Amino acid sequence: MAVTGTSQAGSASPRTANLAAVLRALRTGPLSRTQLAARCGIAKSAVPGLLTELAGRGLVRPAGVLPGNGRPSRLVELHGEDTYALALRIETDRLSALATDLSGRTLAEWAEAADVAALGLAGAMDELARLAARVLPGPPAGVAISVPGLVDSAAAVLRFAPALRWRDAEIAGLLAARLAVPVDVVAVDNDANLGALAESVAGTGTELFYLGGGTAVGGGFVSGGTILRGARGFAGEVGHIAVDPSGERCSCGRTGCLETKANLAAVLRAAAPPGDPLHDPAPGVGARVTLLKDRIRLGDQRAATAVHELGVALGVALSTVVDVLDPDVVVLGGYFAELGEWLVEPVRVELAARPLGQARVVPSGLGLHAPLRGAAHLAAERLFANPALVEEATV
Ligand SMILES: [Zn+2]
Repeated sequence: MAVTGTSQAGSASPRTANLAAVLRALRTGPLSRTQLAARCGIAKSAVPGLLTELAGRGLVRPAGVLPGNGRPSRLVELHGEDTYALALRIETDRLSALATDLSGRTLAEWAEAADVAALGLAGAMDELARLAARVLPGPPAGVAISVPGLVDSAAAVLRFAPALRWRDAEIAGLLAARLAVPVDVVAVDNDANLGALAESVAGTGTELFYLGGGTAVGGGFVSGGTILRGARGFAGEVGHIAVDPSGERCSCGRTGCLETKANLAAVLRAAAPPGDPLHDPAPGVGARVTLLKDRIRLGDQRAATAVHELGVALGVALSTVVDVLDPDVVVLGGYFAELGEWLVEPVRVELAARPLGQARVVPSGLGLHAPLRGAAHLAAERLFANPALVEEATV
């Protein structure tokens, strides 16, 4: 399905808002015109025109009749199968792509190991476009990219990715050019924000703080379905909360930041002596964490202690987060999710020691895949917010 760049997502006209309301209402199943008018709070006389426009964009279709007394009501339903959303993810050692249809059904998914810093920005964008072509059945109508860094999501610019040394990267523009789509269908967001969004959509909590562990540590807060961004888009960046005044020097120049204790390499250094296979990055995060889990289960005391101390450090940092944000749930994401059975308890103990530490603590049910899932949701969400982004079929 072709896309058009004439409408900015977010600057919705009243008509666009009505189109969006009708399309969203159909997400839960087929509805009659009367039901749509009531559900969306719009005049019944306006519904047929809106449905004609949505049908012209290939987004709705007839769905039989509603049986009842008197004249039967014709039903319409979401026609999501021919409109595609694309989620992409950049990690320091991996690139991933996931295509879904408008109803969120996975069409195809692909990931490849990559030294993204060595590829450079342009090279990484080329690779992502290649992965996109591999998973997509046709042009995407919405695109969202998960990146490991600080994002100005309004401008769709990656301000800073420390591990990649990218600054002010115009990710949306670079990718839109390679995918041959308008730049305004491409969203860019931080991986922890998207992890939080994915967990929120999955129903894990309504005031939800997500803490993601990987080569770095990031956080995201979703309140009532909306990502909390702060003034410049950097809200939730908890990796540099001080947890150990006598700890290691951090890349940010300070001492004892959470990230110095909770990045994957630091935990593995604590868990095993130099030269141990755990320190080889080649197998990838998932395989290395599986090896660490196997050792703890086999009674490796050093590995168990390292993970317990990680849990204490997470708990100390999360105590501050809980005091400030008052979430109903704290989700341990990224590689922390894989270690949930050993991390949840020390985190709970630290939170319980604080007068206000009342949040539930759970490992992410989506594990390492949460940010890519969140990106897929965000990509489809852009179309639900502005159905006019999908071009009308030319007959
Ligand atoms: Zn720091």
